[in-house]
Amino acid sequence: MYMNNSRPRILMIYTGGTIGMKENPETKALEPFDFNHLLDNVPKLKMLDYDIVHQELSHPIDSSDMNPQHWGQIVRIIESNYRDFDGFVVLHGTDTMAYTASALSFMLQQLSKPVIITGSQLPIGEVRTDGEENLITALQIAAAKDTDGRPMVREVAILFENFLWRGNRSTKKSADNFDAFLSNNYPELAKIGLGITFNKEALWRSPVKDSPIDVHYAMDTNIVCLDLFPGIQENVVRHLLSTPGLKGVILKTFGAGNAPAERWLSEALRSAVEKGIVVVNITQCPNGEVMPNRYRNGLGLAQTGVVPGHDLTTEAAITKLMYLLGRGLRHDEVAHYMQCNLCGEMS
Ligand code: ASP
Repeated sequence: MYMNNSRPRILMIYTGGTIGMKENPETKALEPFDFNHLLDNVPKLKMLDYDIVHQELSHPIDSSDMNPQHWGQIVRIIESNYRDFDGFVVLHGTDTMAYTASALSFMLQQLSKPVIITGSQLPIGEVRTDGEENLITALQIAAAKDTDGRPMVREVAILFENFLWRGNRSTKKSADNFDAFLSNNYPELAKIGLGITFNKEALWRSPVKDSPIDVHYAMDTNIVCLDLFPGIQENVVRHLLSTPGLKGVILKTFGAGNAPAERWLSEALRSAVEKGIVVVNITQCPNGEVMPNRYRNGLGLAQTGVVPGHDLTTEAAITKLMYLLGRGLRHDEVAHYMQCNLCGEMS
């Protein structure tokens, strides 16, 4: 690993989540606490020879309250401090962490520094907390350099327990295990054991060299995610697709991208596409991808104008669609870019 005499400068951004929560003595419910509580509970932070500066969202939240305005606040903090820090650690609740990681990966185009998101299943003040190790490892990853002195990680990633995952490939897999995240269609970026072993072949390296960070704030939320199931009713689907202002649909289909061959469904989807709604097909299976030509049912869907989202996670598909629509692109451009790999989100 590259050695440099200057101390790594890391900006830690606290957004809320269990890692900084405390039990309310009256209700016994966990509630966001103030950030100083976090530092008081991790005296080991002082053992890292880093300059660690912290900032927090105006109101730390349970991440189930997360929305694109909060993403904008996080992005603004990163953008305005980008030149002054070697890396960024975002402390976040686990519930929507994979959405935030995916959203930030699209909003921070041409990122060339680490943005490491972490949190914990147990509050950091608890004896058996997983928060302390997650935080310290995230800081070490944010400070790690490649042999050429550039940051080892140049993308948004999630550090949790023993793995570093690409942000826009991750999914929360457990509501109670310490090992709470997973990337079903992409290998880990690093394994955490006695040391931190980077999987260098899996790390994102931008094909565009030395281009400055390109930040985008607009996320268009006029979209919906529709999960198919046997027996889904025509009136429900038609009602959803005629939602005023709707611009995009993430359609979660069976297996390799198949849907019922019923006529009403193809008609409803075709007319949505003709109205200018972008409909993207992703699979309900955690692992694998949409293969539109494999089965007649999948092909029928493609013939209605629904575009394949290949192996996008739900979180990446939703936030990518918000991002592309937010850029004010035409329907055909959004449909095209939904099928292109922008920042490592798709194989
Ligand atoms: N509800 C919490 C949150 O996402 C759970 C957690 O932090 O793990 O903010």
